[in-house]
Amino acid sequence: MEPSKKLSLIVPVYFEEECIEQFLKETEYHLNLIGIDYEYVFIDDGSKDRTVEIINKCAETNKRIKLIEFSYNHGKQAAVSAGISFATGDYLLYMDPDLQDPPEEIARFIVEIEKGYDLVFGIRKEKKDTWLNTKLSNLFWTILEKFTGLKIPTGLAVMRIFNRKFADQFKLYGEKNRFIEGMFMHIGMKWTTIEIIQRERFAGVSKFNFKRKMQLAFNAILDYSELPLKMAVRLGFILSFLGFVSLIVIVLLKIFTYQFQAGWPSLIGLFLMGLGLQLVFIGIVALYLGKIYKEVKNRPLYSIRNTTNV
Ligand code: UDP
Ligand code: MG
Repeated sequence: MEPSKKLSLIVPVYFEEECIEQFLKETEYHLNLIGIDYEYVFIDDGSKDRTVEIINKCAETNKRIKLIEFSYNHGKQAAVSAGISFATGDYLLYMDPDLQDPPEEIARFIVEIEKGYDLVFGIRKEKKDTWLNTKLSNLFWTILEKFTGLKIPTGLAVMRIFNRKFADQFKLYGEKNRFIEGMFMHIGMKWTTIEIIQRERFAGVSKFNFKRKMQLAFNAILDYSELPLKMAVRLGFILSFLGFVSLIVIVLLKIFTYQFQAGWPSLIGLFLMGLGLQLVFIGIVALYLGKIYKEVKNRPLYSIRNTTNV
């Protein structure tokens, strides 16, 4: 890498007090080996432990450390977006502080992007995670691909590097409902992947429990796909067709059979069918309306409490 170029490490932190120092130690070791100019852009997503205190303490002696403090938890998507906005480097490397993304791979990311790519995704060779988590995460990506048609590489790790051009493009995206991977794929440009071997989380616990993962998946699907809408329309067609056919059958039975009771059973059947149909439509419309509402309000994506060395 040209000596004049600078690398920004974008690191969202949320209750990571046990990881920060080790993260700095390991990344600094490798960055100094590579011998480049660099900066850390930490984004604190409203931690209530000693995360901010520790980063600020390190920033006193290390002027490469920048810290953006959110006033409360805005979610990882907002944190990463803030990081991209505040980074000043020519290359932006995004990694988590829990050391699941191995700092010894930073050099390979730089070598790869220097070949002329705009974005290099890390792909995990094997994920050091519980069996259930691995299965759930696979399911998440499969469903997402089915619903959105986005060809997101499988086994995507958090660790990825992109250039200034890519970052500037990203900053033009004004949407509030953010699904970062989807946005990255939408930006497109020239991208590639490299395999990395992930480690176990250094300390602390994962912030993404089952519920949060499902929320993410649901959000991503609503954001990136009109399939739920189309499904409702299809279901609507099927139900009305069935209703229509059953009406004809009932009329025919009434005409051609002796003693056919066509009264309330068929009425209730039709009534329920119609009701269900309406509920499906209203529900789906409401979901999208909620999203439109959010966009229309045009709230800022995050509110910053404080910044350090910015
Ligand atoms: N994170 C965040 N805001 C949140 C939740 C998580 O900024 O609301 C950060 C967290 O500090 C970590 C990264 O997102 O750096 C990934 O979280 P975690 O390691 O807990 O998730 P996992 O790797 O288990 O998917
Ligand atoms: Mg992690």
